[in-house]
Amino acid sequence: MEGLLGFLLIGGLFFLMMRFGCGAHMSHGGHGGGHGADSEVKHTDLVCGMDVDMKQGYGKMHEGQLYRFCSRNCLDQFEENPEKYLNQPAGNNGGTP
Ligand SMILES: [Zn+2]
Repeated sequence: MEGLLGFLLIGGLFFLMMRFGCGAHMSHGGHGGGHGADSEVKHTDLVCGMDVDMKQGYGKMHEGQLYRFCSRNCLDQFEENPEKYLNQPAGNNGGTP
């Protein structure tokens, strides 16, 4: 009988670990929270035009605005001549459609 009780106890612990251990981690890392929208915001690399994820590339504050670049190389090019890239007419930034 004690063996069966122990087995049930371990099984219950395992269930709790799955429920509150791994499960909590999965929901925490997923896109389910209220801040999900923030992590999905993508910045456009002004130098090469690539979309840069918040967790990737390099960030640069310029005149109160955060810009992100896919690589150090693009960041350097922007820092050399920010006006060149800021004044470039972007495809969807010229006016409201
Ligand atoms: Zn780039």
